[in-house]
Amino acid sequence: MRPSRCYLSGAFVPLDEARVSVLDRGFIFGDGVYEVIPAYARRPFCLDEHLARLGRSLRAVGMGDPMDRSQWSALVGRLLADNDPNDQCIYIQVTRGVAKRDHAFPENTMPTVFAYSFPFPHAPLRLRQSGASAVTLPDMRWLSAHVKSISLLGSVLARQASAEVGAQETILIRDGWLTEASSSNVWIVRHGQLLSPPMDNLKLEGIRVALMDELAAAVGVALRRRPVAEWELRCADEILLTSATKEVLAVTLLDDRPVGAGSPGPVYAALYAAYQLAKTPAEQPSS
Ligand code: PMP
Repeated sequence: MRPSRCYLSGAFVPLDEARVSVLDRGFIFGDGVYEVIPAYARRPFCLDEHLARLGRSLRAVGMGDPMDRSQWSALVGRLLADNDPNDQCIYIQVTRGVAKRDHAFPENTMPTVFAYSFPFPHAPLRLRQSGASAVTLPDMRWLSAHVKSISLLGSVLARQASAEVGAQETILIRDGWLTEASSSNVWIVRHGQLLSPPMDNLKLEGIRVALMDELAAAVGVALRRRPVAEWELRCADEILLTSATKEVLAVTLLDDRPVGAGSPGPVYAALYAAYQLAKTPAEQPSS
């Protein structure tokens, strides 16, 4: 594998040589937004949707977009070509740039744009076969969780709680209702129906949220968006997580209790298979 090369504000440099100022507002305030774009066989998956969400995040925090659609796309393509292996994730971060420390937005500051590639962290076969474990925690994050902000301390603390007990994810509950997980969206299956909480300011609308509409329709699973109560989560037949890196993953242990039969269920199996098909572009017919 070649050494990783990243992009930092106009230049492509080896990742371990990239440097930003200690006065960067990303470092000082967590003042920035980010994206994680999965790529299979060096082809980005759902690129338009990820770039559109990056645009929404930038607008939500009052930052201009430093690049247009074709420049972002070219940057992603160059990183995928310059890095290994074939399956990668592209991380993009834009901060409000370097300025004298003051909470208010600085004037005339160049945003810092950083992007790098990391190998796609495919879930180990063991997790695919037996499912993941998760714990629940009250959702202590801020009320603008729909913005993909780099200020992630709430998510970091939530995730650490599951890491400490050897679980793979922390599912968050606010006032008795399911929101999402520390870095994934959460779905439950009850009475054969796939349920997902409606998207609002308390959840990040994952790129897989809209994709699941298509996948559920393709495999004939009824999907309903409505609030999901904590008690429903606890007696769900299946629990699923979705994210760029987890794709679709079954949770089979919640707070040390088996979910449903305690192994990945039929709705998971159907949706995971559909996801694998969706991410693999159809072969062009040879002429
Ligand atoms: N919610 C949160 C809080 C996340 O961090 C993520 C991962 N970015 C998701 C949901 C899933 O989003 P996506 O499907 O775009 O990876």
